[in-house]
Parts: sequence; C-alpha cells; structure tokens
Amino acid sequence: MKCIFTVDVEDWFHILDVPSTPPLSAWDTLPSRVEKNFLKLLDIFAERDVCVTCFFLGWVAERFPHLVKEADSRGHEIASHGYSHQLVYQMTQKDFLADALKSKKLLEDIFGRPILGYRSSGFSVTEKTPWFFDALMEAGYRYDSSVFPAAREHGGLKDASLAPYRLNGESPGLIEFPISVTRVFGKPMCFFGGGYLRLFPYFLIKHMAQRILAEGRPVIFYVHPREIDPHHPRLPMGAARKFKSYVNLRSTEPKVRRLASQLEFATFRDFMTENPLHLGGREEQKECATTRT
Ligand SMILES: [Zn+2]
Repeated sequence: MKCIFTVDVEDWFHILDVPSTPPLSAWDTLPSRVEKNFLKLLDIFAERDVCVTCFFLGWVAERFPHLVKEADSRGHEIASHGYSHQLVYQMTQKDFLADALKSKKLLEDIFGRPILGYRSSGFSVTEKTPWFFDALMEAGYRYDSSVFPAAREHGGLKDASLAPYRLNGESPGLIEFPISVTRVFGKPMCFFGGGYLRLFPYFLIKHMAQRILAEGRPVIFYVHPREIDPHHPRLPMGAARKFKSYVNLRSTEPKVRRLASQLEFATFRDFMTENPLHLGGREEQKECATTRT
C-alpha cells in the first residue's frame, strides 16, 4: 500500500470562509506567488523522484498554463480543484456543475488529455449536497477526493467510509478517495495536510501514516503552494482562524522533504492502475519523470 501526495494548486489569497478573502473579480489585481512556490514544490518532489497529483484551480491554470504543462512534463498527474474556489454547500447543483465542467475543459485544453480527478475547495461536500457525486459523474470525472470522513468546519461526511470506495456500485461509477483519518481515542483525526500537517510533529505524522498503511489504506497527504512560503502576505482574520491558517508555516517544507524521502508515493492515477481489482479498470498511465528537462 502506498501514500498519495496531492497539491491543491492555488494562491495565498484563496483561503476560504474568511470575510477578508478577496472576490474572484479582484484576484487578477493581487501579487501572485503561486508560480514560484509551485515550481519549488516540483523541485522538492524531483529530488526524491516522487510523482504527485496536482489539483489545479481553474483560475490558476488559466493564468499560468505553463505550470500545468510543467507538472505534466515531469510525470505528475493533472486534476481539477474547480474553477472559482467556492464552497460546494454554498452553490446550487447547477452552478456547481458549471464550475466543475469549466475547470475540466480548461485543463483538458491545456493538458490535451482527459482529466480524471476532482477535489472540492475546503473538502466541502456535506449531507446538504447529496447531488455532489452525480454532478461530478455528469461532468465526466472518474474519481473524487473531497470527502472528509469526520466532522469539520467546512463540511465533512462523518459517516463516510475511511477507505477508498466506488459510488453507484459498478464500473465505471465514481471512485471516492476520502481524506485520510485515523482514530485516536475513538475520534477520527487527520494528520496529513494543511494545518494538521503543520501543527503535528513529524514523528507523529509518520507514525499515523504507517498505522493507516498497515490497515491496508492509502494515506492521502495534501499541501498548498503557499504553505512552503512563510513570507507570503496574510489576510486579516480573527486569532483562532489565523492560528489554523498560518501556524508553523516554516515546518511544511522540511516535513514534505522528509515524507518524500521516507514513504512510498503514487498518484491517484497510478494507484487506480495498480489496484484495478478494488477500483476497477486500467487508467491511462504515464511514466514518472520528475526531473526537469
Ligand atoms: Zn483550495
């Protein structure tokens, strides 16, 4: 069983659910840092020969299409993080479908091949969005990694399976890769991305990852390019939210380097190929070639 490293490719001002988050109409006017930070992340992965899944925000891909091509040329998987970074439970089904389709088409026009995977902003699929998976299938996605199988401020599906599963029973359907959690004193907890990865010490993160691998589940890690850039501008916000958004930014890069050295990783695309009996069908595979050419 392997780990899956994912990057949600967005900028420093794409923090969710904060009154000071700028609207989409203002994004073009802000100093972007995603290009520099994302390329640095790719270099870190190249040092360790690790291929990752890159969930591109459509807006970022539209503005920086060369980042999509660069990631693809190094063997990473290109996937979609939607276009406009809205919380799913704040959208109508119709608006969500339009957003998921827009980002898929935009990425496919740059990438030249089908986009298989989707991740929502803030893992914001909840009991209030029962149409979410049908909309993704209608948009043509093959897998999703948006379910947070525990209670969470942006949503969470607390009764969801902790292991990857296929929706609608049969192939092709849609495969869900829930965000990895493990029970601590009976409570499901995540250690593997965002504020969790920054807050917890490395030895604990690695120990919990090995525990999940031993249970036969892949461990899904996630980072944002801004998290390896401790000097990025800050959005004004309250103390509690500030702690969650910005705690231990300096720890992300060394943790990513150590994880990439010490654990074995696959992309979602390759994981589905290597586990066809569980997840059905061979997916398009491209050789991992992380070194810059
Ligand atoms: Zn995001």
